[in-house]
Amino acid sequence: MVEDEVRLAETVSRGLRAEGFVVDTIHDGAEGLAEAQLRDYDVIVLDIMLPSMNGYDVCRELRKAGVWVPILMLTAKDGEYDEADALDLGADDYLTKPFSFVVLVARLRALVRRGAPKRPSVLTVGDLTLDPATRMVGRGGTEIALTPREFALLHFLMRHPGEVLSKTAIVQSVWDLNYDGDENVVEVYVGYLRRKIDQPFGTTTIQTMRGAGYRLLGDGV
Ligand code: CA
Repeated sequence: MVEDEVRLAETVSRGLRAEGFVVDTIHDGAEGLAEAQLRDYDVIVLDIMLPSMNGYDVCRELRKAGVWVPILMLTAKDGEYDEADALDLGADDYLTKPFSFVVLVARLRALVRRGAPKRPSVLTVGDLTLDPATRMVGRGGTEIALTPREFALLHFLMRHPGEVLSKTAIVQSVWDLNYDGDENVVEVYVGYLRRKIDQPFGTTTIQTMRGAGYRLLGDGV
């Protein structure tokens, strides 16, 4: 358990031990990352706001290092990241603070039963590549830095190359289920994405299909 609120960490760890879990409690992000790489844990409870390295980076670094232990992230509604982001960042499950201990135990047991997630395969559309595991995106070997939302949008487009995707379908997949804002947010993010994956390379692979949506073009589609 990687959680810097010492009292919460101790209370939860004590409860988990009473349920039969063997628990290591760590209060620092970088230390959590090091321990998780060193030891063979069945599951990790990971807070997001942590000293020295946040849970987002711990999760990403672990996946990058090929550590596929199931991760349950603890998110705070007022935090920098929301629940949808936690899953998008490579966690397997999340709980929003304050959470019920009974629910935490049930979720942890389910994650342990399910075991380590399979490493997702790298997606390729034309010379554009996206690795869901390491969250690396590149075109023709040049690495492209994306925000979590831009990454999620590109991931969705790359899962459906050549298909026309409506704004509604995009919002439903890329934003969280309860998002009830303006669908024009899609237009804004498509713009961001074009400035990163197309314009610097002189390509126009994200096409606007007027009144219908967007589609991503690659070789032969
Ligand atoms: Ca914290």
